[in-house]
Amino acid sequence: MSLELSGDAVLTADDHLIQSFADLDALKQNRARTVINRAKGPMVYDSDGREFIDGIAGLWCVNVGHGQPELIEAITQQLEKLDYYSTFYNFTHPAAAMLAQKLATLAPGNLNHVYFANSGSAANDSAIRILHHYNIRLGRPNKRMVLSRIGAYHGSTYLAMAMTTPAYSHAWSCASDLVHHLASPHYWREGGGMSEPEFLDALMQDLEENIARIGADNIAAFIAEPIMGAGGVIVSPVGYHKRALEICKANDIKYISDEVVTAFGRLGHFFASKDVFGIEPDIITTAKGLTSGYQPLSATIISDEIHEVISRPGEKFLHGFTYSGHPAAAAAANANIALMEREGLPEQVRTTGKAFEAALRGLIDLDIVGEVRGSHFMIGIEFVQDKTTKQSFADEVDIGNKVAFAAQERGLIARPLGSSLILSPTLVLTPELIDQTAAILRDSITEVMGAL
Ligand code: PLP
Repeated sequence: MSLELSGDAVLTADDHLIQSFADLDALKQNRARTVINRAKGPMVYDSDGREFIDGIAGLWCVNVGHGQPELIEAITQQLEKLDYYSTFYNFTHPAAAMLAQKLATLAPGNLNHVYFANSGSAANDSAIRILHHYNIRLGRPNKRMVLSRIGAYHGSTYLAMAMTTPAYSHAWSCASDLVHHLASPHYWREGGGMSEPEFLDALMQDLEENIARIGADNIAAFIAEPIMGAGGVIVSPVGYHKRALEICKANDIKYISDEVVTAFGRLGHFFASKDVFGIEPDIITTAKGLTSGYQPLSATIISDEIHEVISRPGEKFLHGFTYSGHPAAAAAANANIALMEREGLPEQVRTTGKAFEAALRGLIDLDIVGEVRGSHFMIGIEFVQDKTTKQSFADEVDIGNKVAFAAQERGLIARPLGSSLILSPTLVLTPELIDQTAAILRDSITEVMGAL
């Protein structure tokens, strides 16, 4: 007997499912949902059997593509041998231990200690909890504030949302006594009349002024995505991360690099912090591509120095999730990394991701395309009403949604985000599918433009 529901049956059952980041009222009224019930490689299929290029890799996560037999087998074999055991107290198991060791070799510098959780949000929460514990152990409990940035997305737990751009949480008043947001690093929108180097100087001045105002003695961490993802794929000015790290070091503030999206091949390397941006942060958080989304897993990778302090004799580390380092999730990650290494996927992305970027940058000639930004398989397209003044479309135009809908009608799933469209496909897109993606986007934008 099959319990699988499809099409209308799913939609009826779905009356009970609360969607994330959705207009719940609109969903209740029009019930417009896409039922995805099958996937293979770079493609997904809906309940009517229609095929789509998965232009968002699920949610920036299915890096090795859908339906990879060896990941599924690794998960199954792990469950048959050991379904669950915790990594609490003094318990451990081979899959998590092996994965931690592997991540320590892949992560830059002296990031050799790994704390597992089940989501990017929990990885970022864990980073802050670890740093609070660290500063308490050093006898400076007031050193607990966090510097984040306008435009950032760090997750949806209370703390991770507090570190996310205030646009998401303004009415929810998330932990404003704990987190301060620095200026957005988006040069194209925020640069004014400045050159890019001048804009970078202004951003560094903003960082230094805020440290002086809040007091370095009160600040535990600065958190930044190498490239902002859900904020619209925002690339900071060249040299931003290096200079921010120097300022953090000078003020004894720990630098957390949120690589939930940018790691595991998306920018052509296992981690982007050092290999792309030239920095060795104090902590890297990651999730998504760590298992290519086959299992929920995240990692908070911390330096030897932080680990040495939190493991001194004395107070216990009172932090933990039942499913930290779940065997099936760790097995998925081990198999995922082995597959990426064997196939040289990150290296391939240096060619295919660049081709994807170039193909999408080609859309800049269209009248309503204001900026195409990002890198490799992480691209944002911002639409504007007027290219010279960069005037945005009114919210009611719903431009991002309109283009996403037109693209979906043509067989491409893309993610609308206000006036932008985000593309973050699987890393196994063939050259033909790259061309097809660009062609669908061109036709979709042109159609929407014509109907405005
Ligand atoms: N950090 C970044 C950069 C993200 O893009 C996300 C999710 O999109 C998160 C953290 C939160 O991850 P999760 O949704 O797994 O909690």
